[in-house]
Amino acid sequence: MDSAPADSASTDSGTTDSAPAVEVVGLSVTLDGAPILDDVSLTVFPGEWVTVIGPNGAGKSTLLRAVNGLLPASGHIRLLGTAGGALRRRDRARVVATVAQSPVVPPGMAVLDYVLLGRTPYIPALGRESAADLAVVHDVLEQLDLAAFADRPLVTLSGGERQRVFLARALAQGAPLLLLDEPTSALDIGHQQEVLDLVDRLRREHGLTVLATMHDLTVAGEYADRLVLLADGRVVAVGPPPEVLTAELLERHYRARVRIIPGDHGPLVVPVRS
Ligand code: ADP
Ligand code: MG
Repeated sequence: MDSAPADSASTDSGTTDSAPAVEVVGLSVTLDGAPILDDVSLTVFPGEWVTVIGPNGAGKSTLLRAVNGLLPASGHIRLLGTAGGALRRRDRARVVATVAQSPVVPPGMAVLDYVLLGRTPYIPALGRESAADLAVVHDVLEQLDLAAFADRPLVTLSGGERQRVFLARALAQGAPLLLLDEPTSALDIGHQQEVLDLVDRLRREHGLTVLATMHDLTVAGEYADRLVLLADGRVVAVGPPPEVLTAELLERHYRARVRIIPGDHGPLVVPVRS
């Protein structure tokens, strides 16, 4: 299956076109003595959109945080061909942009300044943002329907508006790999589609790679090329949405009764009461 390049090959400094965007092999994470992820392997190819699904507490957020280098983990993680551990913070930020499940909101910070934080890896130490950095930020604010909020303190925005600002910051970073942890769970159905359509368009136009987690199974299946079903810290199914969103797998791992209806962009998962 996965032929993980030996770590001795990790001295390569740049990225390799043919390398997977994300390659995780045998990843295990233990937090406070508790095993959270157990022998997880996962490959995301350049330009692909892979979404991790699974019940609450399955380890989805932990997986994304480990891929982002934020947790002590055993196993191999390579990002665009480079061993994750070999990337320094600033270099990593040019490769990976993240929207965490519950980002910290800096008190008093205006929306524009917050989104400008996404440009930090391009601004020299002790330097100021360039006109090009500001242009990127304004463009992203426009695309996410946020221009009117530019000068508002972020704390005064609604949950859904803030969620779009978090995504704006990640997009302003201009990284080829996006890690999105439930990026739309605070959004109404219209803004949810708007944000996911935008991510999908950027993916197609700029070749971005997306590794996401998502709560809504129908939406997860509509946007992802492949789904990874995580349960109790282990991968229990991987494949195109119709292979993972089956009544049998969802019943077994979520203890849910669902009806699966074929849809235009993937299966529709409908909960059915007993
Ligand atoms: P998901 O995103 O799938 O809902 P998480 O990755 O957030 O799940 O959490 C997976 C499991 O790890 C949960 O049982 C959670 O309680 C546990 N967990 C998360 N962080 C810690 C921690 N710092 N110490 C101990 N357990 C943790
Ligand atoms: Mg989570």
